[in-house]
Amino acid sequence: MGASGRLLRAVIMGAPGSGKGTVSSRITKHFELKHLSSGDLLRQNMLQGTEIGVLAKTFIDQGKLIPDDVMTRLALHELKTLTQCSWLLDGFPRTLPQAEALDKVYQIDTVINLNVPFEVIKQRLTARWIHPASGRVYNIEFNPPKTVGIDDLTGEPLIQREDDKPETVIKRLKAYEAQTEPVLQYYQK
Ligand code: AMP
Repeated sequence: MGASGRLLRAVIMGAPGSGKGTVSSRITKHFELKHLSSGDLLRQNMLQGTEIGVLAKTFIDQGKLIPDDVMTRLALHELKTLTQCSWLLDGFPRTLPQAEALDKVYQIDTVINLNVPFEVIKQRLTARWIHPASGRVYNIEFNPPKTVGIDDLTGEPLIQREDDKPETVIKRLKAYEAQTEPVLQYYQK
């Protein structure tokens, strides 16, 4: 979008494993807009050891969301540096108070929702197995080991990351559904 055109304010939504990152990078490759990921922004703050980064780590390590006031301040501060760009927000807003706070400052033009069935996401996320000693990664669907559950080279057992275990994946998806369904309804209005 050129400087003379109107700037696009877009939000992309989708559960963990829905392919939000992949779709966002395809969109930004074809259109001139800035991709702002709240997860990346938080990880960057954690790496730099900023006050927000230190605080964020305590929540992220427990699998919890960052408090709305902190997250909103961080996201809006970042958006202030992008007033001359079209942007695509990824991961923010994740709750109703965040969506309302964003709305007070910007008019959102479009919301993309990746509606992938939970069963498909669960299959995708739980298909990954790793050999912990070497870091070799297998995928049951695309790159399976010769023998189920066994590393090809060492014959040692493969494990699943805590995050990728079916019970954890279901928990993450349920949390997403509970927190984000109201945001989708808000935008539908
Ligand atoms: P993500 O990379 O989008 O999965 O984000 C990683 C973690 O950062 C999440 O599990 C949350 O703890 C935190 N986070 C990211 N975006 C938000 C947000 N909009 N509100 C609260 N916490 C967030």
